[in-house]
Amino acid sequence: MRVLNFNGGPAALPVPVLEQVAAEMLDWQGTGMSIMENSHRAKEVVAMAEETQAALLELLGIEKGWKVLFCQGGASLQFAMIPMNFAPDGTVCDYIDTGLWSTKAYQEAQICGARPHLAASSKADDFTYIPREYSFSPKPSYVYLTSNNTVRGTRWPSFPDSAPAPLIADMSSEFLSRPVDLKNFVLVHAGAQKNVGPAGLTIVLIRPEWAETGKKGLPHMLDYRTYIEHDSMFNTPPVAAIYTAGLTLKWLRDDIGGLAKIQQLNQEKADCLYKAIDGSGGFYKGTARVDSRSPMNVTFRLKQTDLEKTFLDEAKKEGMVGLNGHRSVGGMRASIYNAVELSAVETLVGFMKHFQSKRG
Ligand SMILES: *Cc1c(COP(=O)(O)O)cnc(C)c1O
Repeated sequence: MRVLNFNGGPAALPVPVLEQVAAEMLDWQGTGMSIMENSHRAKEVVAMAEETQAALLELLGIEKGWKVLFCQGGASLQFAMIPMNFAPDGTVCDYIDTGLWSTKAYQEAQICGARPHLAASSKADDFTYIPREYSFSPKPSYVYLTSNNTVRGTRWPSFPDSAPAPLIADMSSEFLSRPVDLKNFVLVHAGAQKNVGPAGLTIVLIRPEWAETGKKGLPHMLDYRTYIEHDSMFNTPPVAAIYTAGLTLKWLRDDIGGLAKIQQLNQEKADCLYKAIDGSGGFYKGTARVDSRSPMNVTFRLKQTDLEKTFLDEAKKEGMVGLNGHRSVGGMRASIYNAVELSAVETLVGFMKHFQSKRG
């Protein structure tokens, strides 16, 4: 039996995608073997990877001026590759600190020999909001932000318009959850395991002319140019993860109807859950400031924190898993990514009301 999966990541995938992967496990597209057993040099696989790149650019509406890269090493390797390429040898780069993942990105920039400057941080308020005022350095190489903060449940409603340098974003936990205007961006990265596919694939969107400005002489696998020149096939890419991500893209395009539509569905789910939290008379309490709330990761606490373990245990008995907050903060987090259906959120809300009626 399938559970209602509220995992933060790896996370729920669309059932039609999983069914198709399962159906093709012994014979992928008439090759007589699974996608996992195919060579990445096989013409069918090369075509599949190219189609996946094209489908992604089309879905995002950025067919011109961007390149899709299939990387590995997670979002965490991007934390290092970005400063290595674009802020080498003491170059100043600006970071906006909105929680665990941006803090880590900032720290990696330090390790890589960049001179990262904190242009804003919500740390003093426990990362409960997205800062709207910044003290940028005069000439940073880039401005880095985390568009959705998976741990704290905050999301950028819109992006800075007057930054002194191109924007770079970690969009891991909201990638493809809404249309985004990428006009001020030069690079976006996202670990696939939150909203797109299995772990092992990191999708990078990059403007090739920006990649050209990167430091020369880096090891091949750390240089974005390598991925561009070899169409992400310099070494063996995560073929099965790319294929699965491609199926999710098709699902988003054909079954859902695109990014504007998924945004609407995501907002409906988020509204349903936040309404239940806000309407609980304080029994449940959202942890993020209302103007910064994420529609992807809904973080909350019980007023009686000693009941939180019971809440999680009982939810699990009802078939709802992954509701525990990130281990760094505790509490509860319902990750309601693209593949989590409204009915799952409604079931959760029903459970929350019932739990409160017994204990409130
Ligand atoms: C999960 C997550 C990461 C970490 O990703 P890895 O693929 O494990 O390196 C980084 N940033 C954000 C926003 C995330 O949600």
